Amino acid sequence: MKPFNQHSELQFDGRALINGQRRSAVSGATFDCISPVDGRVLTQVARCGQADIDDAVAAGRAAFEDRRWRGLAPAQRKRIMIRFADELLKHADELALTETLDMGKPVKYARAVDVNSAANCLRWYGEAVDKIYDEIAPTASTALALIQREPVGVVGVIVPWNYPMIMAAWKIAPALAAGNSVVLKPSEKSPLTALRLAELALEAGIPAGVFNVVPGFGPEAGSPLALHMDVDCIAFTGSTPVGKQIHVMAGQSNLKRAWTELGGKSPNIVFADCPNLDRAVEAAIGSIFFNQGESCNAPSRLFVQDSIKDAFLEKALALVPGYAPGNPLDPATVMGAIVDQTQLNNVLRYIEAGKAEGAKLLAGGEQALLHSGGCYVHPTIFDGVKNDMKIAREEIFGPVLSVLSFTDAADAVRQANASVYGLQAAVWTRDINLAHGVARALRVGTVHVNQYDEDDITVPFGGYKQSGVGRDKSLHAFDKYTETKTTWIRIDSPV
Ligand code: NAD
Repeated sequence: MKPFNQHSELQFDGRALINGQRRSAVSGATFDCISPVDGRVLTQVARCGQADIDDAVAAGRAAFEDRRWRGLAPAQRKRIMIRFADELLKHADELALTETLDMGKPVKYARAVDVNSAANCLRWYGEAVDKIYDEIAPTASTALALIQREPVGVVGVIVPWNYPMIMAAWKIAPALAAGNSVVLKPSEKSPLTALRLAELALEAGIPAGVFNVVPGFGPEAGSPLALHMDVDCIAFTGSTPVGKQIHVMAGQSNLKRAWTELGGKSPNIVFADCPNLDRAVEAAIGSIFFNQGESCNAPSRLFVQDSIKDAFLEKALALVPGYAPGNPLDPATVMGAIVDQTQLNNVLRYIEAGKAEGAKLLAGGEQALLHSGGCYVHPTIFDGVKNDMKIAREEIFGPVLSVLSFTDAADAVRQANASVYGLQAAVWTRDINLAHGVARALRVGTVHVNQYDEDDITVPFGGYKQSGVGRDKSLHAFDKYTETKTTWIRIDSPV
C-alpha cells in the first residue's frame, strides 16, 4: 500500500514564534513531528525549554507594559481580531490539511469543523470586545464607585492535540480580545497549526510579542510556563492528572489564576419513552466515534433502559460499518487515525481490559489498516459493562463505547453521577418532567435533552468535579482573562 499522504506538497516550519520572529529553540534541540496518517516524519519541531519560555514571557510582558495591544481602542482590537479570523478562512485548505496530517482527523471535518469553528471563535470575541460595558455601583451620592475589567497581563495557554486549533482559539480569542499577551504551548503531538496561527495573527496586525507560540513537551515547556513567576494566568486544556499538576504549579509559584478544562466520561441516558429511537442511536454512535472518539465530551457511557436495549443495540450495530477507518485525506472518510502510536496502544489496552473484566465485545476491538504505516483502530462497542469496570470509570479517548443498562430514573442518575468526571450528559425522553428532573440531578456542566450535537460559541463549555475549573466560550470566558478593579471617587457636590 502506498503511504496515504505521499502527494502532500505542504512545507512545514516547526520553529517557535517569539516576539514576531521564527526561531529555533535556544538549545537547538528539535523533535520529529510524525504523521499518524502513515507514520511519515512531517518536519522537525523546536523542542522549547526554560530559556525559550523565558524569552516568550519576556516578549509578552514587554508588549503588555508598553500597551501596544491593550492600549488600542476596543474597536481597533475588534477590527484586527476579525482580520485574524479572516486570515484563517483565507488559509482554510492549508490549515485543514496540516491538521489532518499532524493529528489524523478526517480532512473534511478539519476543514468544515476545526477551521471554521476556530475562525468563528476569533471573530465572535473580536466582535464582543467593544460591546461590553463596565459598571457603576449603586453607592451613596457622596461617592462614585467604578467597577472595571482590566486584562490580567501575560496569559500562558497549554492545549491538547484533539482539536488543536479550536482548543487554542477558545483561549487565545478571549484572552487577546481582552487586551492580554499570550504564550501558547501546543501539544507536542500536534504543534503545526498553532505556529501558523501565530503567523496569521501577525499578518492580521496583532503586534509582535503579543501572541507567542513555544512548541515542546509538557515537562520541558509546559511546566516552566505554569511555574513562571511573570505569567499572570495559566489556561489549560488536557487530562485531569496534568490539570491537577497545573493547579499545584500555580500555587507553588506566584498564585497565578489557573483554569482547567479536563477529561470526561459523559453519560448518555436513553429512557424507554425516547421520542425518536433512530435519532438517539445516530447521536450515540455518531458522537462517540466523531474525531476517532478523541473528544473530551464524547458520550462514552451509554445507559439504555432495559426494555429497549436489544432494539437500540441492533440499530447501533447496523451503523458501525459506516465508521470504518480510512485514509483521513480522502474526503469520504469519517473515521481517521488515532493521534499517535502511544495513544493507539492506550486504546488497545483499554479494549483488552474490557474483555478481561467480562464486558461483551459487540463490534471492533482491534487495530485497523495495519499496512498503512499509521495508527488506526476499528470502532468498538462493549455491552454488559458495569459502572465499576475500568472501561466505564476511566477516559479512553478513543472510539470505544461502553453500554450499560438501568432500571429507573433514580438508578440512571445514581450511576451517571458515580464518576469523578462531570463534563456533559444527555437524557432522551418524551416526558418533560423526567427530562428536567434528571437534567437538574446530573452533576455536569452541560446537559443535552433529546440531542447530543448542539454547540455554539454563545454557550459556556466546561465541567463539574474533576472535569475542570472555569468555562471556555461565551462571554463568561472573559472572566478568566480579566481582573475586576474598583475605583472609589469622592464627590463633594456643590449642588
Ligand atoms: P495531556 O494532559 O497529556 O496534555 C495536554 C497538554 O499539557 C499538552 O500540551 C502537554 O504537552 C501538556 N503537558 C503534559 N504534561 C505537562 C506538565 N507536566 N506540565 C505542563 N504541561 C504539561 O492531555 P492530552 O492527551 O494532550 O489531551 C487529552 C485530554 O484533554 C483528555 O483528557 C481530554 O478529555 C482533555 N480535553 C478536555 C477538553 C475540555 O474542554 N474539557 C477539551 C479537549 C480535551
